[in-house]
Amino acid sequence: MLPSLSGLNSEQLEQWFEQAGEPSFRARQVLDWVWKKKVNSIEAMSNLPAALRVKLAEQFCLSPLQHSQTQGSEDTTRKFLFRLQDGRYVESVLIPANPALYGERADRLTLCISSQVGCAYGCKFCASGLAGFNRNLDAGEIAGQVLAAEQLSGERVDNLVFMGMGEPMANFDHLMAAIELITGAKTLHLGARHLTISTSGLVPQIRKLAEHPQQIRLAISLHGATDEVREQIMPINRKWPLAALFDALDYWNSHKKQKLTLEYILIEGVNDALEQASILAMHASRLRAKVNLIPYNTVEGLDWKRPNEDHCHKFRNILREAGVSATLRLEKGHDIDAACGQLRLKQESEEGKVVFKPSRS
Ligand code: SAH
Ligand code: SF4
Repeated sequence: MLPSLSGLNSEQLEQWFEQAGEPSFRARQVLDWVWKKKVNSIEAMSNLPAALRVKLAEQFCLSPLQHSQTQGSEDTTRKFLFRLQDGRYVESVLIPANPALYGERADRLTLCISSQVGCAYGCKFCASGLAGFNRNLDAGEIAGQVLAAEQLSGERVDNLVFMGMGEPMANFDHLMAAIELITGAKTLHLGARHLTISTSGLVPQIRKLAEHPQQIRLAISLHGATDEVREQIMPINRKWPLAALFDALDYWNSHKKQKLTLEYILIEGVNDALEQASILAMHASRLRAKVNLIPYNTVEGLDWKRPNEDHCHKFRNILREAGVSATLRLEKGHDIDAACGQLRLKQESEEGKVVFKPSRS
């Protein structure tokens, strides 16, 4: 497996050129080709001497991601499946303007990216956790998804959400290295305010990220307003129950200006009792957080389903009546975007790479 050029920051590239006896300005040229001009091959880096291009190509690949398939079409949500160098797969999802979800930035294009192959956290409703954890993605594999999606779509990504496969906070160092590439002036240069990290609630990492100087946004996968409900579907709640999580979120609020987002999937008969809505409203008000209600997307192998529309509205209205800003995504056809992890599972099981755990529904 060759390291990828899209995984190296400016210092790392300069160091490589120095060791190769090349002038350091070559590093800047390579960064420009990778991140600004977004070329498809090392060969195309035409201001580098031919011999240097050959040497680079012997030691690096340009991108660690090979496009394998696309689902969806241009004016809807598109899901890309990428093959990694070790034969594993990850998914990224390109989502056009969605006023319900992205409010003030409704005209923008959002990319949802993966941070791990599989996930170790085993939330009972989630396809990514179904076959367990395989491995962390490295910085090039995380940041490279943005480059690849931009190349494939011919469009510029405006917002990035770490809501694809995996738990980004459990891959903290690679996540931060990828964010450096994504936000760096010499690399992709996307504003930190346009990045949202979603986590199932890893308390120490939330505190660590709170201290990070960039104004990155945070979304919490809550999915239960009481420990009793939450721990039934999210094993992490046993390690970090709501009291510990909310303490960390208070700490976050004391360091950051942007509002937190609480994500709440609505699963019929599991976490959708209206009493949960009232308690959720109380937590959200106290945390000054907005709430995203996401009707459950069915996952192959799991029996759960979303409540009917009327019930979803009732749940949302309780939040709104309590003065909480709450959005509800009701439109159909969203199984392609939110139930991230399914395409990869299908592909890898066809290739005999994943073994399913017994159904947990
Ligand atoms: N591990 C992180 C980020 C990836 S999951 C986290 O848990 O936050 C991104 C979001 O998709 C989470 O809110 C997750 O709970 C949600 N999700 C997972 N499976 C889903 C499904 N079947 N339907 C709707 N949302 C789902
Ligand atoms: Fe992992 Fe997030 Fe899915 Fe839970 S919801 S299993 S933390 S990816």
